Amino acid sequence: METLIIATKNRGKVEDFRNLFSKYNISIKSLLDLEENIPDIEETGETFEENAALKAETIAKRFSLPVLADDSGLEVDALDGRPGIYSARFAGLEKSDQANIDKLLKELEGIPEEKRAARFVCVLAVARPGKTTIFKRGTCEGRIAEKPKGKNGFGYDPVFYPDGMGKTMAELSPEEKNQISHRKRAIVQLEEWLQDI
Ligand code: IMP
Repeated sequence: METLIIATKNRGKVEDFRNLFSKYNISIKSLLDLEENIPDIEETGETFEENAALKAETIAKRFSLPVLADDSGLEVDALDGRPGIYSARFAGLEKSDQANIDKLLKELEGIPEEKRAARFVCVLAVARPGKTTIFKRGTCEGRIAEKPKGKNGFGYDPVFYPDGMGKTMAELSPEEKNQISHRKRAIVQLEEWLQDI
């Protein structure tokens, strides 16, 4: 059986990927399963692709195994695509969801609904020893709310209205979010690629 390392310590993400790969006879290991303690890899890239590749390729080299890594964030048109790759640390290095939301709403003060378009982006990178890294990208289009609503999810979910849902991402159930999310869409693309190879 082939082994694939998922370059994350987030148990929720590991479970999503384990479900996806279960039908392909691929054994999934996360950074939590490895005996060696892997320090966080600094995200020094300038794009989601560069950051995902940095994580996947560093770990693939270390263990000589295929590695999947992801990078995600929120792009706001009125802010020329910010916070983008800096979404987690938009309001500072302590990575507070509340502080990030406050800063975002402040920057968008006075901007009317039709100019508040935004999207969540998720990029998956699969690095394999001796092979070219592949990338899959999923997006979820929507707009930024005037004020936070809902308690589910994480990050910017309370201030993001996905198109066509009439609710913020944080008002959707986890199952509803999972059907339309950028992460799910990137995973679907990865699945199509897996079926091809
Ligand atoms: P990471 O790719 O897990 O490092 O996520 C980067 C940041 O993007 C998170 O800390 C959140 O601020 C934001 N983000 C990514 N995905 C989502 C999502 O599904 N909902 C809300 N915020 C998200």
